[in-house]
Amino acid sequence: RKACFRIPTGSSELDRVLGGGIESMAITEVFGEFRTGKTQLAHTLCVTTQMPGIGHSGGKVAYIDTENTFRPDRLRPIAARFNLDADAILQNVVYARAFTSEHQMELLDLVAAQFYSEPGVFKILIIDSIIGLFRVDYSGRGELSERQQKLAQMLSKVQKISEEYNVVVYITNQMTADPGAGMTFQIDPKKPVGGNILAHASQTRIMLRKGRGELRVAKIYDSPDMPESEATFAITEAGIND
Ligand code: ATP
Ligand code: MG
Repeated sequence: RKACFRIPTGSSELDRVLGGGIESMAITEVFGEFRTGKTQLAHTLCVTTQMPGIGHSGGKVAYIDTENTFRPDRLRPIAARFNLDADAILQNVVYARAFTSEHQMELLDLVAAQFYSEPGVFKILIIDSIIGLFRVDYSGRGELSERQQKLAQMLSKVQKISEEYNVVVYITNQMTADPGAGMTFQIDPKKPVGGNILAHASQTRIMLRKGRGELRVAKIYDSPDMPESEATFAITEAGIND
């Protein structure tokens, strides 16, 4: 059996409540309102994945971007913080933009094929966001059950990739009122999108909210081995930090 590993987030407090970082062979979902740091954490993970460390020799990153918010140049100051060569870091990030939910599915097949052909080289799959394109493609009335069915197919593919290739899977999710997704949206209008399908697929769920200035608060839900708890971190030029 392969041993799972963890990738640090850049924030020691967030790492602590996660038990050392984001674990491999599982899906970790981050949700929160706009500007809470979901994409900034994705950028930071592109670098921290490649840090040489205990039991972890660094590795390549597969990044699926559905929102066109990946900025390669953002990795440079983050790499500098960890004394890593930015060009080498960038070369190890295999990036793809997904344009439709179907395209996103096809990209996952390509990711699986690449992980298969380069065993042990990739350490993380990032999908930012997992659900955005589904909300566009299945926005009509009466399309919700089809959307959830397709989403379930995608998540099972993602889960299989995480276990088969022992990689971290970091996915981001949005938050809004989402009638019909099985949530009590009338009581609390802001809920993560994706309903029970997404809630049950993610082994660890992290909710982000804004704190003062560039501070953010992460609340950990549903971790298989960590208690529910909160951590405060900062978004800085050099990525997620204390
Ligand atoms: P969305 O739901 O819109 O995708 P998000 O959760 O992905 O939002 P991010 O884009 O990760 O949000 O975070 C945006 C925040 O990161 C902003 O508050 C911004 O000030 C901060 N930020 C972005 N770039 C930098 C930087 N170079 N230095 C410091 N802070 C930055
Ligand atoms: Mg974002």
